[in-house]
Amino acid sequence: ELTLALTKQWMKLFAEKIEANKAYLSDLDTPIGDGDHGNNMARGMVAVQEAFKSKNPTDVTSALKLVAMSLISKVGGAAGPLYGTAFLEMAKLSTSTNDLGLLTEAAVNGIKKRGGANAGDKTMVDVWLVAVPALKENSLTAKQIEEAVQSTKDMEAKKGRASYLGERSIGHLDPGSVSSGYLFQALLEAGE
Ligand code: ADP
Ligand code: MG
Ligand code: MG
Repeated sequence: ELTLALTKQWMKLFAEKIEANKAYLSDLDTPIGDGDHGNNMARGMVAVQEAFKSKNPTDVTSALKLVAMSLISKVGGAAGPLYGTAFLEMAKLSTSTNDLGLLTEAAVNGIKKRGGANAGDKTMVDVWLVAVPALKENSLTAKQIEEAVQSTKDMEAKKGRASYLGERSIGHLDPGSVSSGYLFQALLEAGE
């Protein structure tokens, strides 16, 4: 059940994790990307927090829309439009359901449609595709999230900048999967 209070707490905790791990996320993006993922996400989440303050959304749909718009306009790169699409899809569906399994399912379908990535391509999709079915069964755990993030290490990237490295992308965690891991850990903590 995604309520307005849960949405706000979720985004607050996500913003804190991104801020605390900003340098780490950009370091992960250095050997297999362009070293900006942490800075991109931190810029976006600061904008989300500012938008919540100034616009003070009073329902779930407007809160999710605000997240989407802030991320799309501030994160940039590959991750901005993808996270933005995820929250936009959740916003659209939230007019008919507040079920977190269904909302995040719409989100990951949006990410896949927009970015063309599937399971095993070493992208954030690898974390979403583990988290969503578990959320649908109400069984998502921190350990599952962490394992999904770690699973990207041995993958060869097939999408995004890391794919330019081919086999040389193997052995590195995918930065977008690590940030998506924070997103789902924040959701678990917000729901406690
Ligand atoms: P950029 O690569 O443009 O600098 P970021 O560094 O902010 O963007 O984000 C990189 C992350 O975006 C990757 O680690 C990966 O998880 C995700 N990503 C990139 N391309 C795709 C895609 N086509 N589908 C899903 N996720 C993707
Ligand atoms: Mg990058
Ligand atoms: Mg970039």
